[in-house]
Amino acid sequence: MPGESPMSQQRESSTATERLATVRSRIEAACRQAGRNPDDVKLIAVGKTKPAAVIAALADAGLVDFGENYVQEATEKIASLDAPGLTWHFIGHIQSNKCADVAKHFDWVHTVDRAKIARRLDAAAARLGRSLNVLIQVNVDEEAGKSGVLAHELPDLVEEVAALPALVLRGLMTIPAPVSGQDAQRRPFAQLRRLLESVRSPGDAMDCLSMGMSADLEAAIAEGATHVRVGTALFGPRQY
Ligand SMILES: *Cc1c(COP(=O)(O)O)cnc(C)c1O
Repeated sequence: MPGESPMSQQRESSTATERLATVRSRIEAACRQAGRNPDDVKLIAVGKTKPAAVIAALADAGLVDFGENYVQEATEKIASLDAPGLTWHFIGHIQSNKCADVAKHFDWVHTVDRAKIARRLDAAAARLGRSLNVLIQVNVDEEAGKSGVLAHELPDLVEEVAALPALVLRGLMTIPAPVSGQDAQRRPFAQLRRLLESVRSPGDAMDCLSMGMSADLEAAIAEGATHVRVGTALFGPRQY
């Protein structure tokens, strides 16, 4: 971050590791409530706008999965971290001219929402001789102007993505409109879970639901989230 002193980064790092314990206990409590094994819920730390030093502190504390929204910001951080054991998740809106960079630097892409992007990611991954885990982003609330396929468009996109050899289609992702109260929060997550069940076929690798953020991870876990994407609860508020 511009203008941040090493002192303030150090402070931010120790706060983030303290918050990590809190977030982990929220996940464990939600799993206990839902009768689920906490090992089946991956915590992805969403580090957009946050300095590499703070991410490094969480990695030192044992966190493996990190999410980023912006390709340029992410590639700079990934390069400066030099931590080969980490798993990087791309969770931002994908532009077609960034597919090659995304395929090169990330292990997972949560935000595939059109066939053109899927084909470009596939071609880029194939050229690099690697495969990419991908999720299809669904606009479950059918909010106008929001990324993600609509439920009725999902089966066709699943078919197209599943046929691409360098992509492994792992499941679905959503970012519902913020609402308060667990019952209301659970509704779109339940919808995503049912959608996944409706498009799966025997023997496929579609066993992932990326849903739940700082404000609603309990509701998402109750509905079967396998990946929660948490920014604010780990890093504090973002300053743009
Ligand atoms: C920023 C972001 C998050 C994290 O949100 P918080 O509310 O800060 O936890 C999760 N998912 C996506 C796609 C994001 O862009």
